[in-house]
Amino acid sequence: MYRIGIDVGGTGIQVGVIDERLQILAEGSIPTCTDIPFPEQVARIAACVESTAAAAGLRRDQIVSVGAGIPGITNLATGEIVKCTNMGWYHVPFRDEFRKHLDVPVFSDNDANVAALAESVAGVSAGTSSSVFITIGTGIGSGIIINGKIWNGYHGIGGEFGHTIFDLDGIPCTCGNHGCLERYCSATALIRMAREAIVHEHDTLMMTMVSNDITRIEARTVIDAAREGDPLSCRVYERYIHQLAQAFANIVNLIDPEVIVIGGGVSKAGDFLLEPLRREYSKYVLYNDQPMPEIKLAVLGSKAGIIGAAMLS
Ligand SMILES: [Zn+2]
Repeated sequence: MYRIGIDVGGTGIQVGVIDERLQILAEGSIPTCTDIPFPEQVARIAACVESTAAAAGLRRDQIVSVGAGIPGITNLATGEIVKCTNMGWYHVPFRDEFRKHLDVPVFSDNDANVAALAESVAGVSAGTSSSVFITIGTGIGSGIIINGKIWNGYHGIGGEFGHTIFDLDGIPCTCGNHGCLERYCSATALIRMAREAIVHEHDTLMMTMVSNDITRIEARTVIDAAREGDPLSCRVYERYIHQLAQAFANIVNLIDPEVIVIGGGVSKAGDFLLEPLRREYSKYVLYNDQPMPEIKLAVLGSKAGIIGAAMLS
C-alpha cells in the first residue's frame, strides 16, 4: 500500500512515494513547464510519477492513490482544477487527464491545505483533530483542519486567511484588494517595514549587514539585527510581532483550534518568533481567561507538500 504525493510549484514539481508509516521512500522532480498544452503538462508529471514509483521498486498495482498539492483551488467533486494561476490552469480536468496515464484514485487540493494536513498527520500537530497552519513567506498561506479533515469551505474557496482584511483601505495587495493581512504579516511586510523605517533612521545594524544596500534587506536581516539588540530593528520587529499577534488572535476568536502551526521562511526565527508571539497574542483573544491554542513551529518543512498530497483522499 503506497501513495504518491505531488507538490506542484511555480518553478518545480516534486514527487514522492509514501509508505503506510508516512515515510518518503523515493523522490523525483521536474522543472515546471507552463508553455506547453495542459495534457502535455500532465503527461510530464505522470512520467515523473512512474519513474519515481519505479525507483522505489513499486508495481503499478501497489499504488493506491495519487494526490497533488497545487497553488490554487480544486473542485473536489469533479477533480477539476478551477484556478491555478502559476501553472496557467483554469477549469482543467486534472483528475480525468491524469487517470489516462495511471488509473488510480487521483486527488488535488490547495498547497497550504495539503501542508496543514501533513503536519496534522505526520508533523507537529499529529494527534490533534483541529489545527490551523499558517505559512509565513513571500505571502501568507493557510490551511484549516477540522475533525482531522481539510476544511475547504462549502464552495471550496475558504481558508484564505492571508487575504482577510486587516487594515481598512490599507496597503494594496497582489489580489487587487487593499489592506489584506499578508501585506502586514508576511516576510515581504517585514522587509517593507524595515525599509520604510530606515528612510527616517539610517543608523542601524541592518544597513551594515547589507553593506548599505537597502535593496538587499531580507526578513532574516531584520530578525538577526533585532536579535543583536539593534534599536531600529527591535522596533520594527516588535511592530511586526504586534501585527502577527492580532492576526493569531483573530484565528482563535474565529476557529479556536487545538494548535496553530507556523511554517514558511519566517518560522526559521524559532523561539525568537514564538516567545513574543505567545506572550502577546492572548491579549487580543476575547475569552483570554480560558485555555487557548498552542502555537508551534512546523516540522516537516518542504516535505509537507509531498506527504500531505499523498494523504489526500
Ligand atoms: Zn489580498
